[in-house]
Amino acid sequence: MRALLFRSPGEPLALETIPDPEPGEGEVVIRVARCGVCGTDVHATSGHGFVLPAGSQLGHEYGGEVVAVGKNVDRLAVGDRIAAMTVVGCGQCEGCKSGIDLLCTNQYVGYAHGLAEYARVSARGATKLPATMSLADSALVEPFAVGCRAVRLSDVQRDAKIVIIGPGPIGLSVLFWLRKRGVENVVMLASSDRRRTLTESMGGDKFVVEKDSAGEEIRAILGGAPDIVFEAAGVPGVVGRAIDLVRPGGTIIGLGFCLQPDTIIPGMAMIKDVTIRWSTTFTREDFAACADAIDKDAVLARSLVSTVVGMEQASAAFEDFRNGKGGSGKLQIDPWS
Ligand SMILES: [Zn+2]
Ligand SMILES: [Zn+2]
Repeated sequence: MRALLFRSPGEPLALETIPDPEPGEGEVVIRVARCGVCGTDVHATSGHGFVLPAGSQLGHEYGGEVVAVGKNVDRLAVGDRIAAMTVVGCGQCEGCKSGIDLLCTNQYVGYAHGLAEYARVSARGATKLPATMSLADSALVEPFAVGCRAVRLSDVQRDAKIVIIGPGPIGLSVLFWLRKRGVENVVMLASSDRRRTLTESMGGDKFVVEKDSAGEEIRAILGGAPDIVFEAAGVPGVVGRAIDLVRPGGTIIGLGFCLQPDTIIPGMAMIKDVTIRWSTTFTREDFAACADAIDKDAVLARSLVSTVVGMEQASAAFEDFRNGKGGSGKLQIDPWS
């Protein structure tokens, strides 16, 4: 099969032919319908904080149709349509009992290899798609699950004043889930105008570009300082900015993936009695809830995607994404187009 492989930091992904995957015990193999690319893939292939082994596969936002079933799999059969969870824990330890497989203390198994024609998937980590959901939409489950958990953690009320920093796919998935909860008073704070139209297409009509007077502008729009700030930009400076913006006694939920040192003034957070809470990935329940939500709101969810390319164009499109030159929304790869 064809797959995109990592070679070295900063080098374009290589399209190569490798052996078809075989399902191990407790695993299935799917024909990948669609795989999304995200900022984590850029970190992983640019030497930010860690370096993957040469020849590694990538892709953690994907789904497809089961074509082979391994031993000891009873809940999946050939022809089932699934979204894949790409981190699967032991299921026994305290970390796994929290519901978040990434917290497994017994070395979780990684299945981030969706940038390929076929992929081996843990049956335990597979979520069956609702019957009416399109296979292509399976690749949206993972990014929307990240926002699902963060919004759930925030315990947001309908009349809350909200700022989301960063209108990338993660910030927009937070917006999606806030709107599902009927929360309307939401400002998207961005470093530029680039994603204004994309944000509007996801239902975000309050868009502010960062500048000295942005805090004032936000308070005027919301009718006061935000109760909750979602930090979804993941670049140095934004946690400090969130502390600056949030109301006294307010909450900051961090879901940006910043791998550089960042400086905050803790006293500024302390004096405002701010709660800062980071949110990693999602639980299995969030993942399943996402499949249902995307099925019900497919048109809105799909507006997150701006570019879909086949395998031949994937490496170049990935470089455009790495260099900030791609579309304003998510890049997805359709291995069969
Ligand atoms: Zn991701
Ligand atoms: Zn575990």
